[in-house]
Formats: sequence, C-alpha cells, structure tokens
Amino acid sequence: MIGKLVITAAVAVAVLLARAGGDVARAQARSALDIYVIDVEGGNATLFVAPSGESLLIDTGNVAPAAAVRDAGRIMDAVKDAHLLQIDNLIITHWHGDHYGGLAELAKQIRIRHFIDHGANTQPTPAVDEFLGKVYPQLYANATHTVARPGDAIGLAGVDVQVVASAGETIKTALPGAGAPNPYCAIFKDGRNNPEDQASLGIVVTFGKFRTVHLGDLTKNKEFELMCPDNRIGTVDLFLGLHHGQDTSNSEVMIHATRPRVAIMNNGTRKGGEPDTMWVLHTSPGLEDLWQMHFSQLSGQEYTVPGMFIANLLDDQQDAMPIKPINNPPPGPDRPDPPAHNGPAHWIKVTAQTDGTFTVTNTRNGFAKTYEAK
Ligand SMILES: [Zn+2]
Ligand SMILES: [Zn+2]
Repeated sequence: MIGKLVITAAVAVAVLLARAGGDVARAQARSALDIYVIDVEGGNATLFVAPSGESLLIDTGNVAPAAAVRDAGRIMDAVKDAHLLQIDNLIITHWHGDHYGGLAELAKQIRIRHFIDHGANTQPTPAVDEFLGKVYPQLYANATHTVARPGDAIGLAGVDVQVVASAGETIKTALPGAGAPNPYCAIFKDGRNNPEDQASLGIVVTFGKFRTVHLGDLTKNKEFELMCPDNRIGTVDLFLGLHHGQDTSNSEVMIHATRPRVAIMNNGTRKGGEPDTMWVLHTSPGLEDLWQMHFSQLSGQEYTVPGMFIANLLDDQQDAMPIKPINNPPPGPDRPDPPAHNGPAHWIKVTAQTDGTFTVTNTRNGFAKTYEAK
C-alpha cells in the first residue's frame, strides 16, 4: 500500500513536471538574484527576484490616471520577464505620488501577498489621505500588512533584507561587519528635508557576498543619523535609487562612506541629476560606474554619464543634449512640462551571484558590464 502510494505520487509529479515544462527548467536553473530597475519617469519601481522565484517590489511608480496605468504596465512587463505569478512582498517606501502612485492599478493586474510600509502619512495631502483611508485597506484586506521598523527583517528566501530606516527612525546598532568611524561626518551639510521623504523605509539587501542598498527618498538629515559618527551600513557593491539623484539626499556621509562600485539613479528627464549630486557621485571613492534611467536636463552633458549607461530616450528625441545643465524651473502655472517619455521604456537589469560578481545590463542598447567579485 505504501509502495503504491509512493509510485502514484511519483507519477503525479512526473505529469506535473511534464506539464510545467519550461517553467520548471527555468526555476531549477535560477541561481542569481535579479534586480529590475524600472523606468517610471522619475518615480521609483525596483523589483528583486530571488533564486527561489520569490519577489520583492519596492514602490509602484507615479500617480495621476495616465501615469499610473503607464507605470503599472511597465512594472508588469518586468514581472512577466521574470515569470512571476504573484508579488510576494511589496514595500511602499513613503506616501508620495511618485512611489505609491501605480499601486491600485498594479493590484488589478497581479496578486500582491504582503504589503509593507512605514505607517501613517506624515505630510497631510488630500489625495494621499483619501488613498490611505479608503483604497489601501481594501488592497491589503486579503493579504498581509506590516508596518516595518528599523531592525526588522523582510522574508525573501535565500536573501537577507534588513530594514535600516522607517518613519524617521534609523537602526541604532551597526549591521554585521559595519560600524567603523565615518570620516565624512566632519564635512556634513544638511539640506531641505520634507516630512515624508524623511520617513522613507530603507533596506540593505545581502545575497552571499553581494550587498546593495535602497533608501527610498531618505533625506540628508537621516543619512547623517544613520551614518554618523559610525557607519552602521558598511560598504555596498551597488547603490540603488539615490532619491532620483536629487540633492536633498546623497550626502558624502552616505555615498562616499558606503563606497558603492556601481550606482543606478532612478531620475527623470528633468528630475534629479543636479550638478551637486553628480559631483558627489563622480567623486565617490571606488565608484566604477553610474547608470541612469534617463539623461536629465538638470545634468547637461557636463555632468551626465555616456549614453551607453543611460536606459531611456525621449518620445521626441533630440540629436544632441545641451552641454550646460538647465536650472530647474520654479513651481507654478508657467512651469513647462519636462520632456515626455510615454512610449516604450527600458529597464536596467542587475544579475548578482553569491560570490559578489554582478552584471548590469542596459536593455535599450544591449550594453552589459560585469563587475567581478573583489
Ligand atoms: Zn522614461
Ligand atoms: Zn520620490
């Protein structure tokens, strides 16, 4: 009887394997951590896929009806490329429209099993408060909802995900291997800080010897709290996001002290990449390459990286970009729209191995570069 049961089970497994075909082969072959940095026009959407097939999405792109549909669609393109049937974990770093904006649209298209955030909105705004009061609770009603605190771990099989900042609090003790005095604290200069950016939920991700960090839009004052007097994060291979490359974040205490080999900036066509930020990045010790979602008008050719490292063009692409950065036009009714990019979009894909080797690919032009383990 037992023998027959075993045989029956074995036959059943064989049938399932035959039916699943290629998907099983792909799942068995997967040994790397994949990271998709998705173009959501100066917002954020970054998708991690563990070797097990478990997933973690950070943020869902922009609000406003058309942008939300566009950005949810671009996230779904990456989801399909990764053969995901669900999103296991979703972090909304903070309650700004360029981070949670596409969530309701995305939730119509794929099951999200675990919603993670920093808690209440700290910057009262009618549209956000209405979303949090009426829409968001319905989205997680049949899922798990976690308000994360610094020191919490987020479950992603085979990958260590540590929360280092949330709701304005930061970890008080250094991560394993970190905690050295930070020499850049002496030259720290604070900047403008709005409440919600400061509340960003930030994580450090470790996959074998590979380490990366994503801090949402965490501002300079919180970078200082997290990194001074001692560097509680340590060093990373890859710095993700960079608050779109805006100069309210990205102080030397964070960028220079974590010594990323590679940084990927989720900037827009006229958002982020300002000269001050580019200066910090280009002078960061040990930085081998900066990759960008877009050329930013705020960089000009003077500060930007070569086009090979830039993932997206414009709907109405110019032959050349001006050398000189433009000044960011002041807010108000006369503010011109930034150059549009609503057509086909390209992600930057990172594939990391447990030995610390990682490859970055620009899917617009096929340019890829492997950073060998050190
Ligand atoms: Zn774009
Ligand atoms: Zn943002």
